[in-house]
Amino acid sequence: MERQDKIDIKSKTLSELQEDFVSQGLPRYKALQVYRWLHRGVSSFEEMTDQSKALREQLSQKYYISVATIEKKQVSAYDNTVKYLFSLPDGECVESVLMQYHHGYSICISTQVGCRMGCTFCATGMCGFARNLCPSEMLAQIQSAQQDQNIRISNVVLMGMGEPLDNYENVLRFLELVSSDEGMNIGMRHISLSTCGVVDKIYDLADRKLQLTLSVSLHAPNDAIRSQTMPINRKWGVDTLLKACRYYSKTTGRRISFEYAMIAGVSDSDDCARELAHKLKGTLSHVNLIPVNHVSGNGYQKSDGPRLHRFCQILNDSGITATVRRTLGADIDASCGQLRRRHREEVAE
Ligand code: SAH
Ligand code: SF4
Repeated sequence: MERQDKIDIKSKTLSELQEDFVSQGLPRYKALQVYRWLHRGVSSFEEMTDQSKALREQLSQKYYISVATIEKKQVSAYDNTVKYLFSLPDGECVESVLMQYHHGYSICISTQVGCRMGCTFCATGMCGFARNLCPSEMLAQIQSAQQDQNIRISNVVLMGMGEPLDNYENVLRFLELVSSDEGMNIGMRHISLSTCGVVDKIYDLADRKLQLTLSVSLHAPNDAIRSQTMPINRKWGVDTLLKACRYYSKTTGRRISFEYAMIAGVSDSDDCARELAHKLKGTLSHVNLIPVNHVSGNGYQKSDGPRLHRFCQILNDSGITATVRRTLGADIDASCGQLRRRHREEVAE
């Protein structure tokens, strides 16, 4: 949480900030005022206009404010989806996708620069890992998109670049900050977290009984296929993962959303559908079928429409709720990691 010799102020909880203020001889109530400014998305202490110049100066000596600067922006011609490439002060870039639904705005944010999980169908996974994001950098993505569009975002999805449960402490802190009454006040019921299946953290998350929605990227019904496309499966296999998922829904009472990327000839056969239905029987779940997005260099093709619908039908006939996911922003590289990958290639040219 430190940059040069300065401290990341926006990653602090309100009570930590209050303690900091008191220990510096500053009035405790000022911490709340500053906290509100930070969570409204100011990018400098100068903007805290109701605070004295002396205090602003004192704070800027000790702390810095995380910002996410728009590096690139693509707007979909089909729907109002906006894809951002944000740059961070150290030159790293992350992606976020803003989507408009009838009930409001939802943003998909990144939790890491890159990812170490190495899934073979994923543009982020193919680029490797640079670093974790701190909580304030997750908040900054939401704040920059809000300011750019002059809107208020009501839903947050941790489904951009990175594996949230591989940056667990920072993600937990982000959840606390984003849902705080004096912060953005986005309730846990309006937040989803997507994981490739970091089993020990799923148990830990379950025991915290947060009301967030858990999405699990399953993508295959058995170890033979899943270990090929998702290396994490070699550590925790499908049965171990599904056991953790059942524990999660039993403990929290929440339905789990399973993501299933349909890759032609790899994971989309009738046998795969039957095996998946068998494994999910009795689990409080919903399956989202997604035709795999094209990522150059891996040779995967997406399943066609009839295959998707047949697969979905087999699941439904076995009593598993499944739907074919509407793909938003299909024309703007809206799939995880694609924009950053393209940007890196362009910069390298
Ligand atoms: N690391 C987390 C969250 C980020 S990935 C996870 O894996 O769940 C967000 C989602 O995009 C995941 O469900 C992931 O499996 C999916 N995804 C990645 N590459 C994809 C592609 N080429 N086509 C379709 N879905 C993809
Ligand atoms: Fe990482 Fe998720 Fe991509 Fe896998 S799918 S490489 S876990 S971001």
